Amino acid sequence: MPTIALIAHDGKKDDIIRFARENRPDLARFHLIATGTTGERIQAATELPVERMLSGPYGGDAQIAARVAQGGVDGVIFLVDPLYAHPHEPDIQGLLRICNVHNVPVATNEASARFLLQGLVRGLEGAE
Ligand code: PGA
Repeated sequence: MPTIALIAHDGKKDDIIRFARENRPDLARFHLIATGTTGERIQAATELPVERMLSGPYGGDAQIAARVAQGGVDGVIFLVDPLYAHPHEPDIQGLLRICNVHNVPVATNEASARFLLQGLVRGLEGAE
């Protein structure tokens, strides 16, 4: 099953929950991994299984970056809050960098997240 990583900064958590609810049937076709709090909230809101990493500030973004580098992630949805500085900014930049190094699609806002998910679903249907 292809894998999507989901991450949202605190100011974007409600947005990713709404996104996950609205797109539940599509997301159910993927193995989902997420940073700690984002994963917990998505799992509670959608009842989809989510493999949870550490919380972002404790290394969750770095864990997801490692999974991307290993080739185990097909797309990353990372709703960043552009209005606040985060203590784990180096990890955030690191994850984006690793996605770019490995040419893994990464969406950092909700509009691009929709395109990313649609594209991955289309890829699944092409493979069927
Ligand atoms: P969280 O981490 O899902 O554990 O809140 C996200 C982040 O801040 O990178």
